[in-house]
Amino acid sequence: MSKLVQGYEVVIGFETHAQLSTNSKIFSRASVAFGAEPNTQACALDMALPGTLPVMNKGAVERAIEFGLAVNAHVAERSIFARKNYFYPDLPKGYQISQFEIPVVQGGEVSFFLEEGKETVRKTVRLERAHLEEDAGKSLHEDFIGQSGIDLNRAGTPLLEIVTQPDMSSSEEAVAYTKELHKIVTWIGICDGNMQEGSFRCDANVSVRKPGAPLGTRREIKNLNSFKFMQQAIDYEVRWQIDQIEDGHKIQQATVLFNPDTGETRAMRTKEDSADYRYFPDPDLPPLVIGRDWVERVKSEMTELPRVMAERFVKDYALPEYDATTLTQSKAMAAYFEATARACGQPKLASNWIMGEVSRRLNAGEMTIEQAPVSAAQLAALIGRISDNTISNNAARQVFEGLWNGEGEVDAIIEAKGLKQMNDTGELEKIIDDVLAANPKNVEEFKAGNTKALNGLVGPIMKASKGKANPGQVNALLMRKLG
Ligand code: ADP
Ligand code: MG
Repeated sequence: MSKLVQGYEVVIGFETHAQLSTNSKIFSRASVAFGAEPNTQACALDMALPGTLPVMNKGAVERAIEFGLAVNAHVAERSIFARKNYFYPDLPKGYQISQFEIPVVQGGEVSFFLEEGKETVRKTVRLERAHLEEDAGKSLHEDFIGQSGIDLNRAGTPLLEIVTQPDMSSSEEAVAYTKELHKIVTWIGICDGNMQEGSFRCDANVSVRKPGAPLGTRREIKNLNSFKFMQQAIDYEVRWQIDQIEDGHKIQQATVLFNPDTGETRAMRTKEDSADYRYFPDPDLPPLVIGRDWVERVKSEMTELPRVMAERFVKDYALPEYDATTLTQSKAMAAYFEATARACGQPKLASNWIMGEVSRRLNAGEMTIEQAPVSAAQLAALIGRISDNTISNNAARQVFEGLWNGEGEVDAIIEAKGLKQMNDTGELEKIIDDVLAANPKNVEEFKAGNTKALNGLVGPIMKASKGKANPGQVNALLMRKLG
């Protein structure tokens, strides 16, 4: 059951354009490198000069196959390219080449964890399709030789448009889905994932309805290029739609833009229906045929997928599913965990430290794991000193701080800070005897059955040992002495 907003259920479906990491365009040999001078990367085909013909980029198809495999989808043996007709200055052909009736990737799913209240639940968003298409150019205004102009460098850049079913029911879920999708495409290397440069652009389709009612009319928020704006835009849109309906208005299907400065969404144009685009198969391109042997070859060459790696972590390291998924957020994070776990032989402790202290410090410094000043070997050495009882958990946190601040290696820091636990029973027994002698009342109460009186003894013992006594050992010794 999804949570309601003012008695309404929220319904969200996503369309994401992932720019494929090829060197050249989807139907021409021009480069797709970012940031070149306007029109220096547009060839005759990209400019729609008469007599040019598109030629399919094999690398783009290969990336679509990889994506299909990564999300457990069906890779179509035969898909077709269509012309999507519309007029826009940055589209000199008058149509965009896309896939309409038969896309290359069909179905599939993306699943991820979501915090709901105090619980962590696994969610799965079904994909409808992913299809190959070309990007359009760009209209430049004042920033182009002091006047408006068209830059066709981006025209023909290969895109994979990934479309979900309307399966999400909150902005948090939409963000979690998008992060997972982002992780998948960057992990398998089909897209660089750079949201600022527009390599990964998201459109959120949002509608609201009373529970049990048919789907409401959606509005599509275009080009969300950060997770923060995505959440703000959807939350604003949901409130706006509910207000409209409560005021007796009908929602008009529309395309809207989010303005980060005002925090509002604003209608850009009323939304076209697919019939308005007069789709028809592109006569310049034959059907895209993908043999099973090609799919099998791509499969055999692909890196271990995040969800497969997570399953392996559960199996090989006996980690909870949640840990395994969190640690496979990026390849670098997974590698850091594996190196730590192998070196210290304590996978669960390694996981706790990485998901705890390490992540906390990374987040505070807005750093990625590649930038962590504590190496996997150092973290493993630290964990080793906890398990061999050299230091307590508390002391370990201080050692970790020292490692992070570059104060040296684990043993040197333990030495310098005097954090070694007292493992000399003789010394500890003397402290315990003194404390027992000084606190006869607590001893009496404990012997009379008041277990809480023990706290009044452990405290002073730890204090007298300057925090270096091993709590487990203190307990054992106390029990023996008190009978
Ligand atoms: P188009 O390509 O014209 O935008 P689609 O029918 O392919 O239209 O849908 C695009 C996206 O909108 C899909 O992700 C789909 O799940 C989502 N969607 C469709 N209907 C609704 C709705 N009523 N509310 C929210 N999302 C919707
Ligand atoms: Mg759309």
